[in-house]
Amino acid sequence: MPVSSCPLCGENQINEYSKDIIRLYHRCLSCHLIFVSRDELITLDEEKKRYDAHENNLEDQGYRFYLENIFSIIQSHLSPGDRGLDFGCGHSKMIEDIAAQHNILIDSFDLFYHPNEKIWNEKYDFIILSEVIEHLRSPVEELQRIQPLLNENGKIFIKTKLLPKTKLEFDQWFYKRDKTHIQFFSREAFDKLSEKFQFESSVEIGEDLFLFKAK
Ligand SMILES: [Zn+2]
Repeated sequence: MPVSSCPLCGENQINEYSKDIIRLYHRCLSCHLIFVSRDELITLDEEKKRYDAHENNLEDQGYRFYLENIFSIIQSHLSPGDRGLDFGCGHSKMIEDIAAQHNILIDSFDLFYHPNEKIWNEKYDFIILSEVIEHLRSPVEELQRIQPLLNENGKIFIKTKLLPKTKLEFDQWFYKRDKTHIQFFSREAFDKLSEKFQFESSVEIGEDLFLFKAK
């Protein structure tokens, strides 16, 4: 089945980039996003079953340590009194819990576990998408939904594994084997995203952690 357009920039110059026993991976020649064709996705039910299987709970110390690290980097880019949203928080709301210990208020939203519709009437100084953007079936539409929730000069923090530099590394990459991961970003793809949403810039502030500032 031919792929008609890139889920990030909408351009239709697309190559087959790589193939494994699970799926085919396409590459957009314009923004360099690597992605799985939308007609090769697993069902939403199957997707949720996979999340249920590696559900993280508040007592999971290893996962907590990992998120505390991410949050401490994010925190160094916040101002006193800033209020945030953890979009795609997963089962546990762990970032909300960690932030609360630092007296920072965060709301949590998750399509599967915490569909907290109140967020759509709120405004936030920052929004976190931690290990989320690689899962979104319509990344542009989702970002268009959350962008209006940002205050002026608001910040979006995106954590996702950046694409390996070579095709050989991609072919052996563990991250693409997760069937719920359906797109993979390079610096160029993030620059395109930044341009598309008229963010001021995108800066890598930690390992695979990017900050996008609204104008
Ligand atoms: Zn593209």
